[in-house]
Amino acid sequence: MTLTIPFDNSYTQLGDRFFARQSPTPVTEPSLVTVNESLAEALGIDPDALRTPHGVAVLAGNARVDGAEPIAQAYAGHQFGNFVPQLGDGRAILLGEVIDAGGVRRDIQLKGAGRTPFSRAGDGRAWLGPVLREYVVSEAMHTLGIPTTRALAAVKTGEAVVREKPYPGAVLTRVASSHIRVGTFQFFAVRGDAEAVQMLTDHVIRRHYPDADGALDLLKGVIRRQARLIAQWMGVGFIHGVMNTDNCQIAGETIDYGPCAFMDRYHPATVFSSIDRQGRYAYQNQPDIAVWNLAQLATSLLPLIDENEEAAVEAATEAVHEFGPLFRDAWLGVFRAKIGLTNAEDGDGALIGGLLDRMAEGDADFTNTFRALGSGRERDHFTDPAGWDQWAAGWHARLARDGSSEDEQKALMARSNPALIPRNHRVEELIQAAVQGDFAPFERLNRVLSDPFAVQPDAEDLQRPPQPDEEVLQTFCGT
Ligand code: AMP
Ligand code: MG
Repeated sequence: MTLTIPFDNSYTQLGDRFFARQSPTPVTEPSLVTVNESLAEALGIDPDALRTPHGVAVLAGNARVDGAEPIAQAYAGHQFGNFVPQLGDGRAILLGEVIDAGGVRRDIQLKGAGRTPFSRAGDGRAWLGPVLREYVVSEAMHTLGIPTTRALAAVKTGEAVVREKPYPGAVLTRVASSHIRVGTFQFFAVRGDAEAVQMLTDHVIRRHYPDADGALDLLKGVIRRQARLIAQWMGVGFIHGVMNTDNCQIAGETIDYGPCAFMDRYHPATVFSSIDRQGRYAYQNQPDIAVWNLAQLATSLLPLIDENEEAAVEAATEAVHEFGPLFRDAWLGVFRAKIGLTNAEDGDGALIGGLLDRMAEGDADFTNTFRALGSGRERDHFTDPAGWDQWAAGWHARLARDGSSEDEQKALMARSNPALIPRNHRVEELIQAAVQGDFAPFERLNRVLSDPFAVQPDAEDLQRPPQPDEEVLQTFCGT
């Protein structure tokens, strides 16, 4: 059985300005951690062939596979508000694209596959911890119904990667509808390369927004998808951690899982990332940061929007201002479902806000509190039960006006409030175990998260919030 991947590459046709040709750097001793069987099949790749020595060698960057055209993509980016004109794939290598079973073009990329012309001071590598975190969290986002890049496989390299100390090296095979970012547009715009911005715009419209008519329409499409995406993040208590423009994917998928985390206790100002000292990317700031990032995209597209600069700025500004109402609508849609409402009333925003305020005051667990709604045991989640009772009275009155049956409301809540998320202390725990060679906790969390809305009695321990001594207060970018 030989591994074949039905590559059909389009990005390389854009020409040399867009990337550097770069093969992965071979590693000493590749070994397989896991293959995502259902994803492989959807991509037209035989999972068993990925498990053969040749398959594992391909996943580690040690062997070539027919049809691959390995490249490192060029992009720029605002990192914590500061513009860096050249970032690019410093440790990721795009092997090529395939058309999946649903007819969607997907990138297959090796992350941690060695140095590239964009590596700057970096070693081009990743270690096992962040590779497993991205694997688990990105796949969980997918089963939670949130647009995201996926994880096709993880391999160990047999080499040490030095961060604060030496760790086992690993490579993640990442799948995305594309790896084009806001920063990709910025890369060409800042160089004054209008032709490349136009080519990229055409490519992105063909690939991701086939109904868009020109740059302004594309901008509006990206804004719509980002508004929806951030609302979905908010609905599961997800904090991305590094919402830089190079980590803002143009098709609206969650990308670049670094120091990301799901909240346990609800507080709107929660930050996990150790490098986010100002709290720029705190939970509640995510919609505002998305606007900021989209304004950078708008700026890059200005020359394509209108020859008259003033008119271009006016149209682009108007489009970016639409994010607020679009996000508000998407957010209301997400949270209405979480509290069992099928139709809309004017006071719903205040009702949802009232619940969140009480949760914040009482250190309520975000996931478990929403999951408990309708169970009759909601009161247990609040340190101020009288406050809950008061809110619940308004909620029950609103549910009664909703026009749906109690069964419908409960079913809606059950499919809108996951029982399971990849809690940070569990992710840390599985990383610790994996570094010791024990992959059982990784396999188990992955398996359980394949159905996060189901009642899984044997996974109750994974629903429990962290004990004070288990709590992970910071996540690190030493990826
Ligand atoms: P990130 O914070 O992962 O979004 O990465 C920001 C930039 O740093 C991207 O251009 C990455 O390719 C690059 N980068 C991150 N880690 C490494 C590494 N170990 N070696 C080379 N480049 C890296
Ligand atoms: Mg990045």
